Amino acid sequence: MRKVSIFGATGSIGQNTLDLISRNPNAYDVVALTGGGNISKLAQDAVRLGADVAVTAFDDRLDDLRSALAGSGIKAAAGQAALIEAGARPADWVMSAIVGAAGLAPGIEALRQGATLALANKETLVCAGPLVLETARNYGARLLPVDSEHSAVFQALVGEDMTSVERIIITASGGAFRDWPLRDLANATVEQASSHPNWNMGQRITIDSASMFNKALEVIETKEYFGIQPSEIEVLVHPESIVHAMVGYRDGALMAHMGAPDMRHAIGYALHWPERLDLPVARLDLAQLGQLSFSAPDEARYPALRLAREVMQRGGLTGAIFNAAKERALDHFIARRIRFLDMADAVSSVLERFEATDGLIDAPLTLDNVQQTDHLARQWVDETVLERAG
Ligand code: NAD
Ligand code: MG
Repeated sequence: MRKVSIFGATGSIGQNTLDLISRNPNAYDVVALTGGGNISKLAQDAVRLGADVAVTAFDDRLDDLRSALAGSGIKAAAGQAALIEAGARPADWVMSAIVGAAGLAPGIEALRQGATLALANKETLVCAGPLVLETARNYGARLLPVDSEHSAVFQALVGEDMTSVERIIITASGGAFRDWPLRDLANATVEQASSHPNWNMGQRITIDSASMFNKALEVIETKEYFGIQPSEIEVLVHPESIVHAMVGYRDGALMAHMGAPDMRHAIGYALHWPERLDLPVARLDLAQLGQLSFSAPDEARYPALRLAREVMQRGGLTGAIFNAAKERALDHFIARRIRFLDMADAVSSVLERFEATDGLIDAPLTLDNVQQTDHLARQWVDETVLERAG
């Protein structure tokens, strides 16, 4: 039996992962499940799957989790330290599906005990790519991509060598506002931004898809994971979300990965890798689809993509700053304190402030520095938002 842990088990990726694992319960021994405030779901799944431990991210929910698990023999734990302790529990395969930079430290801990880390949490590579890859190397651990585009690239690279790769193209559906006139974007509401045309995902990544911040993170994730030059990464708007990514080779060939927009494909590929096993995903009927369309992204519409290029150019702690500022700007948008287009403005001004402050961006890329920088970036977004409001 393979020992598996799922971080962010109560979320969209977490639940899809549990769906696959529950279909073959005899193959897996569940070690740790983690969640946030959804205690009843976390406890129910922990009992159903016979986990050793269930962890909520929130200290003040420990008593609730304890009572929900009473009599089950499953250990309950809460808080940051407990999340990291869950990462330290020996496991063969760990799903990293916490949303946001909060997923970084538990993931690094799982790498330190040599686990294969299935990485849905793209923030891990955006905030600390070189550090994470080095940790995996030092501890003999493996990172497998779960983001659909990166899983697609990974699959299109099987049997190939990175030296023959000329470019990587990741696709973007264009999100909720793809067909909106530019002038209407300023007034886009949280509700409007929270519905995705093709994918069913958590609220935060759905809004990030509408603003293209999700694609911006993914471009950086592509650079970090595959070690390719920023100039060799392209984004292509593809409204149908059928082609997830393409790898362009030096002989001009493009290898495209196609599939239904169902995250269980990428999760299952990482779960069974290096094998391919049956997965309960819809089979494409291309004749019925009839056609696929592609267009270049409009950078005026999506400032996040331009910011991602600047972040890749600068390197170091800039990824952590970019991500933290984006997360905090998103908090403010969800709380209706700023408007849709203000998010990119806030991120941009915080990046500029870091650039103008000596010694911050160029500090070495350590977990401590990432966390301190993350904290400061969030504080500066708050200041920016307050200033504008006042
Ligand atoms: P979600 O919001 O549905 O779930 C997030 C999970 O993280 C939940 O279990 C929640 O309880 C937990 N969580 C939230 N805040 C936390 C904190 N501060 N500390 C610890 N745990 C916390 O999110 P999701 O859509 O499943 O996305 C998870 C990750 O996977 C994100 O990084 C996202 O970008 C990435 N991803 C998601 C999809 C998708 O289809 N949903 C696709 C590609 C990549
Ligand atoms: Mg993706």
